[in-house]
Amino acid sequence: MPKLSARIKSKLPKVGTTIFSKMSALAAKEKALNLSQGFPDFDCSPKLTELVTKAMNSGMNQYAPMPGLLSLRETIAKKTEELYTGVYHPETEITITAGATQAIFTAILATVSEDDEVIIFTPAYDCYEPAIDLVGAKAIHIELQGPEYRIDWEQVKKVINQQTKMIIINTPHNPTGTIMTAQDMQKLEKLIQGSDILVLSDEVYEHIIFDGYDHQSVARFPKLAERSFIISSFGKTYHTTGWKIGYCLAPAELMKEFRKTHQYNVFSVHTPTQQAYAEYIVSLNDHLELKEFYQQKRNLFRNSIKDSRFQLGETAGSYFQLLDYSKISEENDIKFAERLTKEHKIATIPTSVFYNKKVDRRVLRLCFAKKDETLLKAAEIINSI
Ligand code: PMP
Ligand code: GLN
Repeated sequence: MPKLSARIKSKLPKVGTTIFSKMSALAAKEKALNLSQGFPDFDCSPKLTELVTKAMNSGMNQYAPMPGLLSLRETIAKKTEELYTGVYHPETEITITAGATQAIFTAILATVSEDDEVIIFTPAYDCYEPAIDLVGAKAIHIELQGPEYRIDWEQVKKVINQQTKMIIINTPHNPTGTIMTAQDMQKLEKLIQGSDILVLSDEVYEHIIFDGYDHQSVARFPKLAERSFIISSFGKTYHTTGWKIGYCLAPAELMKEFRKTHQYNVFSVHTPTQQAYAEYIVSLNDHLELKEFYQQKRNLFRNSIKDSRFQLGETAGSYFQLLDYSKISEENDIKFAERLTKEHKIATIPTSVFYNKKVDRRVLRLCFAKKDETLLKAAEIINSI
């Protein structure tokens, strides 16, 4: 009898362990500074952990309602209207999820079918394509060209056809740090008007945007919003990536379908944490200060490596910085990133992993959601390479 692994047919034959797990494990093994996986090396507000503890001690330890605590959904509705003018009804149009990853997976599972096509832009965050593959749909890739990595809407127009079910956008963008403009949103709106194409807008870095730019949430564009899932994550905004709580906004009809899948996928998410966010967000509008907080870190990091042999990409949003090393080495980015971790004790993410095909790139992604002292130590290493 052949081994079990040979008898079961993998539904994701091309997929291995994610680069984030690999590089973080290598960083730990090599005792290297870890600027690879995107997470802060500083703690969240003690007020938030106190509120979680308070909620647990006050007996909030059973299932939350399936779509999430209403108080938290009301807070999100208020924020979305204040910042982006989009009106979402907390009862029917907002669902709290186990991080953005689950929201993305659920939105795709709930609405995309076998043989549908989903347009994604590469380099792309890693969880979109496996979800598309798992439902038997086809990912259609459009490559963004560096160093600007802007969407060419004429190219999008060319690939849209009867099979196109969804377009996935991500602003601010992981891994490139670019942002979409109001014109981008208007072009997208125009391109799909009159069709049944849905939009999934990954906006997890909505509050990490620099140089006075405003985040162009789909929620600002009613004609787009009426066919869109908007997904965000408290992990990025409140320095709590390990708590895995996010949310999805969508018009009632779409949300109805989303919840049908959500209720059998996770049913509901961690009650005390939802309670803590609900109380915290109302009293402390921290997300409004996040831009300045991360802009200072971006500037510190960039200024301290500006004379290095690396070429710096522009970061308008997110907490990622791209570094081009073509002047330093001919090695491919995976080998180069491994060597930097082992020999120079700094871990980064090779960006070729964000493509669907083999690409010859000499660009690394570094996360600057780190203490200033970590960034300065990293800069010292980068300047010595
Ligand atoms: N989308 C993007 C673009 C991300 O960078 C991340 C962060 N890892 C996620 C989604 C997933 O967020 P979460 O950790 O809340 O699942
Ligand atoms: N979003 C994080 C990043 O881009 C990784 C999250 C994960 O490990 N899945 O680094």
